[in-house]
Amino acid sequence: MKIDVRQVPPEGVILREEIPSGALDLETSIIQFRSPVQVTAKVYRITNAVSVEINAEVLASCICSRCLAVFERNFKNSFSLNYQADINAPVIELNPDIREEIMLDYPIKPLCSSNCKGLCPKCGKNLNQGGCSCATT
Ligand SMILES: [Zn+2]
Ligand SMILES: [Zn+2]
Repeated sequence: MKIDVRQVPPEGVILREEIPSGALDLETSIIQFRSPVQVTAKVYRITNAVSVEINAEVLASCICSRCLAVFERNFKNSFSLNYQADINAPVIELNPDIREEIMLDYPIKPLCSSNCKGLCPKCGKNLNQGGCSCATT
């Protein structure tokens, strides 16, 4: 997503864009995107400063760090970015900052649910799907 500060009217402007997930290089071994990143940006210009309020949303599939099940999760981020309005470089590229903000929200250990029971350390059965016979010994 790019903003040309020359085209920001005094009352501000709202921009919407779908950024392909590949363009942001956000996928990891445990988080894969299932949709483009939907970005809404409210842009304001105050003399020499540009203020951008961003809402970003993306559907991702994650691998649970306890039971290894794949589950889907919506990542929603709201944040604001501030830039200098520079006449010599009026086009601001937002993607690197959007990428950084989304990554900050990544869980270090994603969980399919907060009470995920995980896998049996002996037989490897997913204990969310019922107990195994090791549990009684
Ligand atoms: Zn789990
Ligand atoms: Zn077991």
